[in-house]
Amino acid sequence: LPLLVGALFATYYHLLVAPAPSYYQSLFLSLGSNDTAAAHLRALTVRPHLAGTEANALAADHVVSTLSSLSFPTRVTPYEVLLSYPVGRSLSLSAPGRDATAFALVQDTYPGDPYAAASAEVVPTFLAYAASGSAAAEVVYANYGRREDYAYLASRGVNVTGKVALARYGKVYRGDIVKNARDAGAAAAVIFTDPKDYTPGKAFPDGPWMPPTGVQVGSTFKGVGDPTTPMWASSEGCERVSVAKAMSTHDMPGIPALPVSGRDGEEILRLVGGDVAPEDWQGGDGAPVYRLGPGPAVLNLTYTGNETIATIQNVISVIEGKEEPDRYVILGNHRDAWTFGAADPNSGTAALLELAQRLSKLQNKGWRPRRTIILCNWDAEEYGLIGSTEWVEENRAMLTSRTVAYLNVDVGVSGSGVDASATPQLDELLKQASKKVQNPDNGTESLYDLWMASDSSLIGRLGGGGSDYSAFVQHIGIPSVDMAIGSGYAVYHSLYDDFTWMEKYGDPMFRRHVAVASIWGLVALRLSDEEILPFNYSSYATELEVTCPLELSPIPTFSELSIFSQ
Ligand SMILES: [Zn+2]
Repeated sequence: LPLLVGALFATYYHLLVAPAPSYYQSLFLSLGSNDTAAAHLRALTVRPHLAGTEANALAADHVVSTLSSLSFPTRVTPYEVLLSYPVGRSLSLSAPGRDATAFALVQDTYPGDPYAAASAEVVPTFLAYAASGSAAAEVVYANYGRREDYAYLASRGVNVTGKVALARYGKVYRGDIVKNARDAGAAAAVIFTDPKDYTPGKAFPDGPWMPPTGVQVGSTFKGVGDPTTPMWASSEGCERVSVAKAMSTHDMPGIPALPVSGRDGEEILRLVGGDVAPEDWQGGDGAPVYRLGPGPAVLNLTYTGNETIATIQNVISVIEGKEEPDRYVILGNHRDAWTFGAADPNSGTAALLELAQRLSKLQNKGWRPRRTIILCNWDAEEYGLIGSTEWVEENRAMLTSRTVAYLNVDVGVSGSGVDASATPQLDELLKQASKKVQNPDNGTESLYDLWMASDSSLIGRLGGGGSDYSAFVQHIGIPSVDMAIGSGYAVYHSLYDDFTWMEKYGDPMFRRHVAVASIWGLVALRLSDEEILPFNYSSYATELEVTCPLELSPIPTFSELSIFSQ
């Protein structure tokens, strides 16, 4: 009898007393705190925190202690992986009849910069995994460094073989810029940040745009995961390919390369002669006339990198589901940054922690998710999605069978507008959720209104390797989402991606941080708590019809089947 009473009570409690999922969803949305998000961002970005450094381990401590204090079981999952650091760099410019001038290769701080002292810890400007070596050769200007740019150079009779290719950022992945230079025969590559694209207005700290000495740092690895354990996990004692072998694959740039500032790029182009480059290869106002070369400018480049096995740390926190604990809704964001990482990626980390604090408050009001929610804070994303890829590789079988969805936020906030991508069965859920979240820039509108007014009002797809959703979508086929407020910003991967930039230009009220946490958490709550998963496969069918139209050809007649006529 006590069992029967207990069972009846449980049933009635469930039917009559326990609030519906929508109750907790509304409560979650009402609990957003911009002060909390700002405090986390400030704490996470106090020092530059590149993967494999002590500062990034301290940032991991902040994430662990925050999540543990909410009583969510939290642990660090470390991996030993191949990272890349600069040891020596030099670049000098000369031309016949001119003395060589050496570039400083330093990003300047500004008077009153509160991060001036900490910026001494910023990694020198470099391109991770570039080959160590030297080149001294004439310069060829290669526009955005795309294959079509090299095809154009060839059509104009400009020979790139043995030369230093100078290309600008902005159209293709920097790993492809260097690879295309190598494929064209270049001995080395230099990539600059053209003020035309990155400084069309006032530069930081007087405006949001890239300062004259600002440099975009980044990886040139075209693969994903630890290069010494391709397709398997870097677990303790595992088999590895040698560093030399990992560095010689086609996913590595294979030639020395360096990134330079807009100011240095223009100084080089002032000395490049040859035919005038086409109109759409030119710079902005005040720029010299860009010419194709080769020469007479000569660049003398030396780069020495240290490719070394380093320890990275993913932080994994679990909120166990009550009814379906073995079904996972996974939220992920990376923590490692090239510099201070205020936008990329810690606006997302701050949103994750603010969201976790709201979930803890729901838990105090009696909420328990139906399915398990896992919060992941990845490491070494910047080098090639390494932390998330190794974790998926290590847990492939379990994640494949148990994961309901993976929800990624990388750069959570970089400006205004909404930028969202998804696998199509989640399109409808994303739209519905955005209608419930307030537009952070306009209190009478929804995030959906802001989204529809954005440049990127369409839902993007997740075919590329842009962030940590890659292993989930492309290796194990998990329904996934990638979300951001703002799309692209000029100080990306430079010294200036710091808290001051975010506070002045990216999100002065930190309401955009709250908005990204709100939509992220709401999508997670709907996937974790609703009895019927809110997937919509008719949008999947529509997407397939659009992107993979079936060519229905008539069935061949017997005599047309060549196999029988031979
Ligand atoms: Zn990122």
